[in-house]
Amino acid sequence: MSNSILVVGGGFSGLTAAIEAAELGYDVYIVEKTPFLGGRVAQLNKYFPKLCPPSCGLEIQFQRIRKNPRIKFFTQAEVVGLTGQKGDYTVKVRISPRYTAPQNVDFGLLASTLEGEVCSEFEFGLGKRKALYRSMPFAFPGRYVLDPAALSKTDAVRLAGNQFINLNEQPRTIELGVGAIVVATGWKPYDVTNLTNLGAGSVKNCITNMQMERLASPCGPTGGHIVRPADGRAPKRVAFVQCAGSRDQNHLNFCSYICCMASLKQSLYVAEQYPDAEITIFYIDLRTPGRYMNVLEKVKASPNVRFIKGKVADVQDDPATGNPVLTVEDAVRGEKLTLAYDLVVLATGMQPTLSGETLPLPVSVDEDGFICGGEEAGIFAAGCARMPLDVMRSAQSGTAAALKAVQTVKGR
Ligand code: SF4
Repeated sequence: MSNSILVVGGGFSGLTAAIEAAELGYDVYIVEKTPFLGGRVAQLNKYFPKLCPPSCGLEIQFQRIRKNPRIKFFTQAEVVGLTGQKGDYTVKVRISPRYTAPQNVDFGLLASTLEGEVCSEFEFGLGKRKALYRSMPFAFPGRYVLDPAALSKTDAVRLAGNQFINLNEQPRTIELGVGAIVVATGWKPYDVTNLTNLGAGSVKNCITNMQMERLASPCGPTGGHIVRPADGRAPKRVAFVQCAGSRDQNHLNFCSYICCMASLKQSLYVAEQYPDAEITIFYIDLRTPGRYMNVLEKVKASPNVRFIKGKVADVQDDPATGNPVLTVEDAVRGEKLTLAYDLVVLATGMQPTLSGETLPLPVSVDEDGFICGGEEAGIFAAGCARMPLDVMRSAQSGTAAALKAVQTVKGR
C-alpha cells in the first residue's frame, strides 16, 4: 500500500492539487507531458479574477514546489501503464530525453546563435523558436530543452562537442508506487481548422483568442504589440466572434464557459493599446458568471465597443486589403450585415485534452472527452479535465481533488 499521490498534468489545477497534498504531508509526483510546468495559464497575457499576468500566480506555485521536498516532478513524461488497485498502484511513466545537462546551464547565448527555427507551439504559430529553448522567460523548470528535429546541419555539428548536451540521450521508463491519482490533463483550444465557415484558420488577420493572448503578452512574439499577423499593421477595427465552435452540434456541443470573459478581457487589451479603435463583439448570449458581471458593465460603458447579437455565418478574406469580412445576421434588427475589419478574433472554445486520446487509467469520459468517472478506483479528475472552468475554479477543483486523494491514501 502506498500513501503517495500521482498528479497527471502540470497545469494550474494539477499544480494546485500537488501542492495542497504535499503541504498536508503526502509525497506527490507530478507527471507533465510538455517540457515545462504551468499549462495554459502560462500562455495567457492576463487572467481573471484580478487580471494579473501569469507570472504572478505561477511564480507562487513554482516557489511552493521548489521549497517542498515532498513534490517530485517529471516533465516530457507520460503515463504509459498502470497495474494494481486503489491504494496500491504501480504507474509506468515514459520520460522523453531533454538532451541537456541537469545542471542549470544558461544556453541563452548559444540558443540565439543557432540557425534552425521552427514554428513555436507555445506561440500558436505566431512566432518561431530555436532548437534549444525555454517556452518563456519564467519557464519552470528553467532548464533548456533541445529539439533535435529543429537543428540545422551546422547547428548539429556545433552542438556535437558541447559537454552540456547529450544528443545520444535515450527515453527511459520509470515506475512509481502510488495510492491515488489526480488527473489534471487540462484542455486544448478547439481546432480552428474545423471551422470552415469561419475561415478555418486560413483567413489572414483572423486569429483565435489564444493567439490574441500571445500577441498581447509582453513575452509573446510581438513583445505585447497587438498587430495584424499578416502585415504587422496596428488594427483600427477589431471584431470578436463569440461561440466559435462552441454550442454547436457539429463542433463542441457545450458552452466553453470562459470565452465570453476572454473576449471582454481582450477588448480591454485592444482599447488600452488603441484608445480610438472600434471594437465589435458578435454574440449569441453573453455569459459572465457571478462577480464577472462588473467586467461586462465596464466594457459596455466604453463608447468604442459595440455589441451585436447574432451568430456570425461567414468570415472571408478580402485579398485586396487583407481585411477579414464578416457576414452576420443582426438578430435584434433582423438585418443581414457584411462588415470588414482589420482584425477578427475567434472566441474558440476549450476541448478537453483527452478528447480523441486515451489515457491508460481506468477513468471514463463523456462524449465530449470530459472525465466523468473513476473515483471508485481512487482516481480523481481536476480542473478542465472535468468540465470547462476558469483559472480560479480550476484551482478550487485541484484542491478538492487533492483532498479526495488524501482521504484515499490516509493511514495507508
Ligand atoms: Fe459562447 Fe460565451 Fe459560452 Fe464561450 S462562454 S461558448 S462565447 S456563450
